[in-house]
Amino acid sequence: MSVLRSVLERAESNSTAVAHFNIGDFSMLKAVFESARELMVPVIVGASESEREFLGVRQIAALVRELQKEFSFPIFLNADHTHSLGGAIEAAKAGYDLIGYDLSALPVEENIRQTREAITALKRINPEILIEGEIGNIGTGSEIHETVPDLIKGLTIPDDAKHFVDATGVDVLAPAVGNMHGMLAGMVDGKAKKHLDIARIASIKAATGSMLTLHGASGTDDDDLRKAIAAGINVIHINTELRIAWRHGLEEGLVKLTKEVALYKVLQTAVGAIKQVATSRLKLFNNLV
Ligand SMILES: [Zn+2]
Repeated sequence: MSVLRSVLERAESNSTAVAHFNIGDFSMLKAVFESARELMVPVIVGASESEREFLGVRQIAALVRELQKEFSFPIFLNADHTHSLGGAIEAAKAGYDLIGYDLSALPVEENIRQTREAITALKRINPEILIEGEIGNIGTGSEIHETVPDLIKGLTIPDDAKHFVDATGVDVLAPAVGNMHGMLAGMVDGKAKKHLDIARIASIKAATGSMLTLHGASGTDDDDLRKAIAAGINVIHINTELRIAWRHGLEEGLVKLTKEVALYKVLQTAVGAIKQVATSRLKLFNNLV
């Protein structure tokens, strides 16, 4: 069995969830890894197609693999929101543990047909690789949105989720349950929070029996996240919150050290700010608070 699958199964039986953090550069990876290691909890790092283009598909895989090996640590790598089979194959060959194969923009039967085909191709490359399928509408872009996207029609119906899981054979399902990529401007200072449809999560879990990922969880109410884990969520994606922490930390470093050009010194405050957010999310998801 794949190591990641056994980590997810252990999380499920402990009523905890594994955090998934996207990494846009090395300081993000460093901060996320240090946070997980200090708490001794597993973590998944993700790289979207754009992040992979920036960092290098195989270069990120090499960095994560070396951390796994050197520290014997359960850190895993996801090819987040992969929209093409070519991109998924490239990541599978590079040794990614998980592929988020995202054809949710297609009509559902086409999503099913192409996801099933991709699973066959990807498991031929690595039988232990896990494939996550995506249905419903959770918006795009881990950034600050000025207007509220209308996603209500895109919420996942439990029967549709069961049909999708049965017809594709995905290892993990990412449904739309009130979650949304990015954050609204009013959420940045913590005044407004996202809320989840917990009953829908429980129904999807009961219908599919599948491992479930919650995308776009930045800015979500803590209590909703606890209830979502209890209802069957196994992986939780936090991206925008870390990006905001990175930006604020970087600005603080530049203001504090006006003459400094050694970037590892300037970046210390960014790493610290990312660690603070990552640590608090890891504690929440792993019942350490
Ligand atoms: Zn996502």
